[in-house]
Amino acid sequence: MKLENPSQLQWQFSHRAEQMQSSAIREILKITMRPDITSFAGGLPSPATFPVEHMKTAFDRVLTQQGKVALQYGPTDGYLPLRQWVADSLSTDGAKIVPEQVLMVSGSQQGLDLLGKVLVDEGSKVLVETPSYLGALQAFALYGAQFESVPSDENGLLPETLDGIAQGARMLYSLPNFQNPTGRTLPLERRIKLVETCARLGLPLIEDDPYGALSYRNAPLQKMLTMNPSGVIYMGSFSKVLTPGIRLGYVVAPTPLIQKMEQAKQATDLHTAQLTQMVVYEAIKDGFLEQHVPTIRKLYGDQCEAMLGALQDFFPAGCSWSKPEGGMFVWVTLPKQIDTGTLLAEAVEKIKVAFVPGAPFFANTPERNTMRLSFVTVPPAQIRVGIEALGKLIASKL
Ligand code: PMP
Repeated sequence: MKLENPSQLQWQFSHRAEQMQSSAIREILKITMRPDITSFAGGLPSPATFPVEHMKTAFDRVLTQQGKVALQYGPTDGYLPLRQWVADSLSTDGAKIVPEQVLMVSGSQQGLDLLGKVLVDEGSKVLVETPSYLGALQAFALYGAQFESVPSDENGLLPETLDGIAQGARMLYSLPNFQNPTGRTLPLERRIKLVETCARLGLPLIEDDPYGALSYRNAPLQKMLTMNPSGVIYMGSFSKVLTPGIRLGYVVAPTPLIQKMEQAKQATDLHTAQLTQMVVYEAIKDGFLEQHVPTIRKLYGDQCEAMLGALQDFFPAGCSWSKPEGGMFVWVTLPKQIDTGTLLAEAVEKIKVAFVPGAPFFANTPERNTMRLSFVTVPPAQIRVGIEALGKLIASKL
């Protein structure tokens, strides 16, 4: 049977859905997937780092040895051996983290969404860095967050500014390591000050840390979680150290919050895929990441150096940029008169180079003369050619 008069629906979206919009930039960025474009725009890890064979072996082992468990529904809080692994790996600097504090999530992006769901009401004040991770701004905005941008400099948040603005805030969202989008890292003294200030103000401190393991040269700085596990909500991810396609991350937080997020997660997806959790545990339990992650650091470190060298050689006077010591991004500030949104369209058309304009990363007042460059998926020789062309295009505007 087939209806003679099929439905002609007039969609009435929720107020929440009405607020969602696809940005003009996203449309331009679709073009950047074309093979003839040198794209510094992506936020994707390099596929060259994906351990395909190792994952194949892990899938095979899990399915052969525990197939019936792996293909069944699982608990909402996650696969216990993996939660134990996360707890153990974060029990450093004298902190003791237990599995009850760990919730496995389907990518740390889901962790951000769940946090919004349980902590943010319409109009709730949420403190964020200037600039901040766009995916978090989008996640919290859907629940009605009103953002207050915390003054920040090239080293990140300025903790001494919090006293004046934290009144009534639900949380502070921070990215201490190799921040997306700027690549900057919060120094140890500021971490200590931030943790102390948030504890004194009774303000939950989110530490979003997907890039922390990707430090090119130095040992990572102490995680704020380990300074105060009862006041810090830590978000980790397997996306940048293993592969993003498995969609696996974790939230570490005090148990009352974990229990609330678990209730919210039940309504979202019941639990994160049991199969991928078991496979990831199988893949990493014998220390695989200790040999694998250094190869990612080396690749990204070399490409970061190529980009910083090219910027130095080819970008005109009046431009400045961050000097990341890890992660995937460089942040560039151009002379004030250049709007990088307009520049992007021209760069894609004329020189076949793409980047992400900086404006959407600002929760409040955008700095339109900024851009984010990712160096991880472009080989060094192509980085030089692309940055040279971009430098010339910028120079032609001055
Ligand atoms: N936080 C930050 C700062 C990110 O850059 C990303 C990925 N781009 C995420 C969270 C989400 O990562 P995933 O969901 O893949 O774990």
